[in-house]
Amino acid sequence: MDRQQEFVLRTIEERDIRFVRLWFTDVLGTLKSVAVAPAELEGAFAEGIGFDGSAIEGFARVYEADMLAKPDPATFQVLPWRGESPGTARMFCDIALPDGTPAKADPRHVLQRALGKAADLGFTFYTHPEIEFFLLEQGFRPGERPEPVDNAGYFDHVPHGTGHDFRRAAITMLESMGISVEFSHHEGAPGQNEIDLRYADALSTADNIMTFRTVIKEVALEQGIFASFMPKPFAEFPGSGMHTHMSLFDGESNAFYEAGAPYQLSKVGRQFIAGLLRHGAEITAVTNQWVNSYKRLWGGGEAPAHLTWGHNNRSAMVRVPMYKPAKGQSSRVELRTLDSACNPYLAFAVILAAGLKGIEEDYELPAETEDDVWGLTGSERRAMGIEPLPATLHEAIAVMERSELVADTLGEHVFDFFLRNKRAEWDDYRGEITPFELKRYLPGL
Ligand code: GLN
Ligand code: MG
Ligand code: MG
Ligand code: MG
Repeated sequence: MDRQQEFVLRTIEERDIRFVRLWFTDVLGTLKSVAVAPAELEGAFAEGIGFDGSAIEGFARVYEADMLAKPDPATFQVLPWRGESPGTARMFCDIALPDGTPAKADPRHVLQRALGKAADLGFTFYTHPEIEFFLLEQGFRPGERPEPVDNAGYFDHVPHGTGHDFRRAAITMLESMGISVEFSHHEGAPGQNEIDLRYADALSTADNIMTFRTVIKEVALEQGIFASFMPKPFAEFPGSGMHTHMSLFDGESNAFYEAGAPYQLSKVGRQFIAGLLRHGAEITAVTNQWVNSYKRLWGGGEAPAHLTWGHNNRSAMVRVPMYKPAKGQSSRVELRTLDSACNPYLAFAVILAAGLKGIEEDYELPAETEDDVWGLTGSERRAMGIEPLPATLHEAIAVMERSELVADTLGEHVFDFFLRNKRAEWDDYRGEITPFELKRYLPGL
């Protein structure tokens, strides 16, 4: 047993932890949990805990269903919302096959593989997400329009507002779990909030995002409300994005930083953005994985709809945020496509792969777009070489299907499962007769 594993066992004893939840994530980004008694942990560290992978979305075909969950002791955390005693803790797991090799379906493994590739090139990948979500009144039924908890807007201070109490409780809980929050505020839509996490290596960030979603939902329920990360619950209000700031570090130094360059952005930084732009359409099905995701991308509300980059342009897909002279190491790029309901492991993996491709192949960064892309006509956009992002899940799947980059990054198993699952989702959706159609066509036709 190594020191971290010993630390976990000691803490469990000292803090009277009776339940240890082993967490992992399925291909679609749903958190899975199996609780074990502390007595099982030594065995779990050594060999893993067996479970039936066929029960989990995307994990196995029936004939290779036996899998092992191996807890990562570095992720050990006591869960604050379960009460003090008897205590509950959790660890994220790596999933292995019975022969000990990593399960190809494990999204955490997909990201670890991509990070390994970055490490081979000398880079560590850091990310920090701005996570938007809605706070809604409880009690709506599926299919019904939910009611936001307030009527406030961007950065509004709501006296005695649900949002304040909620954010304070949620952030306190996140901090108590070792997840640092940089920034939080009311977002543009009624009931919409944003919480930005401090930057960390991409694997920790992805783990933190999974934890974040659970914490937010738990705190909301405690306060008698409901939290949702659905990308676009209201047609008339902006959706919930998960803009992600990222940088590559080469040892101690930020590889995106170059003193004196435009926006202090190094050649590596420019190549990385060029990779995001060139492969942006291919990876959209992963960063925006639901039918509903495309209602956000094509719904205005400061969500990107075209493959553009810019400095201070909020319709751009990639933005290079203002450079702060005091912070030479803070050079970064912000990708604005992702929504709050993506699988963060898979999304970070394909984003990193696209950026690294730009570096490896020395892609040329096209001119930036400072115009509001929505304000241009279609032919102006074409003349400027501005390409649209996929407009529907159907289009996104069609581009992803032909992508070598995404196939290589996700691996054959996840790639095939993902496409199959998303085609089925699209087929379910296209078979629906919507309220729009009944309202628009039935009376007159
Ligand atoms: N909600 C917007 C989106 O979906 C972002 C708004 C903002 O943070 N400027 O991307
Ligand atoms: Mg923000
Ligand atoms: Mg925001
Ligand atoms: Mg942003």
